[in-house]
Amino acid sequence: MRKQQTLSKSAFFNGIGLHSGNPVSMAVHPAPVHTGIVFVRQVGEHILSLPASIDFLGNTDHCTTLESEDFRVQTVEHILAALAGLEVDNAYVELEGQEIPAADGSAGMFVETIQQTGIVQQEAIRTHLKIIESITVGDHQRSITVSPSPLPKISYFIDFPNHPLIQHQEFVHNCTPLDFHKQVAPARTFAFRKEVEYLWSHGLGLGGSLQNTVVFSDTDLVNEDGLRFPDECVRHKVLDLIGDLTLLGIPVIGHFEAKCSGHWLHAELVKSIKNQPEKWILFNPGPQTKSDITTVAKQQAPASFLPDLQPAFQTL
Ligand SMILES: [Zn+2]
Repeated sequence: MRKQQTLSKSAFFNGIGLHSGNPVSMAVHPAPVHTGIVFVRQVGEHILSLPASIDFLGNTDHCTTLESEDFRVQTVEHILAALAGLEVDNAYVELEGQEIPAADGSAGMFVETIQQTGIVQQEAIRTHLKIIESITVGDHQRSITVSPSPLPKISYFIDFPNHPLIQHQEFVHNCTPLDFHKQVAPARTFAFRKEVEYLWSHGLGLGGSLQNTVVFSDTDLVNEDGLRFPDECVRHKVLDLIGDLTLLGIPVIGHFEAKCSGHWLHAELVKSIKNQPEKWILFNPGPQTKSDITTVAKQQAPASFLPDLQPAFQTL
């Protein structure tokens, strides 16, 4: 039986927000067992919190956004993927503003720093959600299915037949931390030049650059330093899916097969799993019950965290 994990101490990150273009700081702190991943922000004397839960899903255009009445966080998928890929169950992700640092457009920097900081086991068993009957969302063009499997696995397929450098790509990920670190985390966000020019002309993606995005022209690659993997695009889709799946709040044992999918469809699958408890069981259940997963999450202030939050950004 696997135990829950958190960071051994806080990890700190600086960078540019992909959409605002403004400098942003982030700290990932250890959290007690059964916390899950919770975004927190200090506003004066108050601490705002926002659990990484599908119940707080906002816009899924170009990135995944979480929002509540008073707290909004954009581009959560890469830090969530880094935490899930390294099997970190519990963490507080503290932000100064509304965005996660863009880093190099991948989860590589988050993974390296979290690993250097250290991951520790905690005194509680990790509960998994085990799929016992297949669930599919989408249509014949774009779809995602999760079906029963003895181990977690992701197969992703994308199809850009008109682009000579992308075309058809398929990648299978066996969901181990080592594979994630080496094969998935370094894959960067990609976009097409026309799309990027449109976004920039509309005041969006202002922090985007060739330092954090792989940009394709109609027939070629704009970045001079080339691709990190010939199939970097599909690997990045796997990264995004791992991040988006964390919004279920519990790791899943099943085989995910995605075809030309994206953030919106990833989120639809999470909702579908949540809404169909007859198609899964809890494996190694602890205090968490099925209804904890199927009921709507409530925003909760992590009171035990308050004393630790004060010095977070003074060290940056
Ligand atoms: Zn992404």
